[in-house]
Amino acid sequence: MARVGVMGGTFDPVHYGHLVTAEEARVQFTLEHVFFVPNRYPPHKALDQVTDPEHRYTMTQRAVQTNERFSVSRIEIDRPGPSFTIDTLEALRKEYRAQDLFYITGADAILQIVRGEWERSAELLTLCQFIAASRPGFPLEVHDLRKYNVTGRPLDNLHVMEIPALAISSTDIRRRVAEGRPIRYLLPDEVAEHIAEQGLYRRSVRSLE
Ligand code: ATP
Ligand code: MG
Repeated sequence: MARVGVMGGTFDPVHYGHLVTAEEARVQFTLEHVFFVPNRYPPHKALDQVTDPEHRYTMTQRAVQTNERFSVSRIEIDRPGPSFTIDTLEALRKEYRAQDLFYITGADAILQIVRGEWERSAELLTLCQFIAASRPGFPLEVHDLRKYNVTGRPLDNLHVMEIPALAISSTDIRRRVAEGRPIRYLLPDEVAEHIAEQGLYRRSVRSLE
């Protein structure tokens, strides 16, 4: 059976940090395909605090179009209400076995999950393999993962992955656009074009943190 990766996120907007992480996971873990899954809106955030899901979906599609092993899934965008990763992984588990399904995250996200901050975190951690990438500003220590682990069992299905450091975040990109500073080379040109054409991020600076 195929081994596949799932890269979830708000992607507001998608950037090279996401793409490098997904590509490195694909190669290091011999994944046949990586699905990018933009959320409809993140839990605890109102719909109006993030950019319209269709814009985020289009930008993510444009970003992955040159990689035949990447595609974008509408599974969360088409599901009403806030997007819980556990619902998505439960749906995917109908098609893939736990050992063939890899949820890819940055260091900040995996620490939240391991600490129990996501919906049904402990159960989520049993559904598939997890790949956690080191992310500048969010040091990832295996020691911390063990210390904060809420599941009460060893996390044998959690794999830590080193990636070339990329201190890029969507928050910084939104801020740069609002301030008229450059975003070129932080994300694919096609995504920057969509932002310019649609006039996204010009006014408000929103942080999802
Ligand atoms: P924001 O600043 O709005 O929170 P973000 O840059 O963190 O945006 P998200 O859509 O929140 O992007 O992140 C989706 C996933 O990608 C998360 O698992 C996050 O940890 C990971 N990620 C984001 N940026 C990077 C990066 N530069 N390197 C590695 N992983 C990253
Ligand atoms: Mg984030």
